[in-house]
Amino acid sequence: MFKALFFDMDDTLCDTQGANLKAVNWLINELSSHDHFDHETFVSQYLAAIYRELDEELKQLTSVIDDESDYRHFVFDYFLKKHEIKATDDLMSYVSLFDKKRIEYYDFYLGVTAMLKTLRSQYKIILITNGPAYSQIPKVEQVKMKDYCDHIIIGGLEPEQKPAKSIFDKACSVANCLPNEAIHSGDSLNSDIKGAKAAGIKTFWILPKFTSFSEGNKESDYVSNTILDIDKILESEL
Ligand SMILES: [Mg+2]
Repeated sequence: MFKALFFDMDDTLCDTQGANLKAVNWLINELSSHDHFDHETFVSQYLAAIYRELDEELKQLTSVIDDESDYRHFVFDYFLKKHEIKATDDLMSYVSLFDKKRIEYYDFYLGVTAMLKTLRSQYKIILITNGPAYSQIPKVEQVKMKDYCDHIIIGGLEPEQKPAKSIFDKACSVANCLPNEAIHSGDSLNSDIKGAKAAGIKTFWILPKFTSFSEGNKESDYVSNTILDIDKILESEL
């Protein structure tokens, strides 16, 4: 029987992609009154850059920028220039407005808060989320994550992020359990599933959209499209 349950946050407990989509549509709509350029392409380029999906040129240009806000302003300006648009103060204000919208729309998937409340009466609940404090602390605060977890580990504040063994070791330490007394649930095959497995922790893979079920079965102890199925796993492990 497990003593502790470890959870990833983005696209596992919370609908990050849904929040992004709403914020993207909001920004496209806002920009439509500004200048005539391909707003949809611009916004998708900017969002990809937030997730560090960069070409070699942008990788080099941004390699020395440590501060996340400075980084986002830089890439926003960079892509405006690519679209031959002047980065006015008015346009640049959308960097922080877009951040605010992404947080405003950020929420748990339906049914997750009730699930966590029930589970917490029997298990230690540990959140392990990758990403910089700049983006992860506002998300944790937006959903009042502290009310549902015993401990929150933010990758950007740790020496190493998932899939590093050290972060899973820390989770076991704060949960006061052995690796084989915990199960980690997450949507990232590399960061969550392979990382937890390598640390000796059982895994529950929340399949990202368009991933086939058979592919998942080979990699993870358990697989589903929704975190809400964890109760079936916990029953089977009793
Ligand atoms: Mg995730």
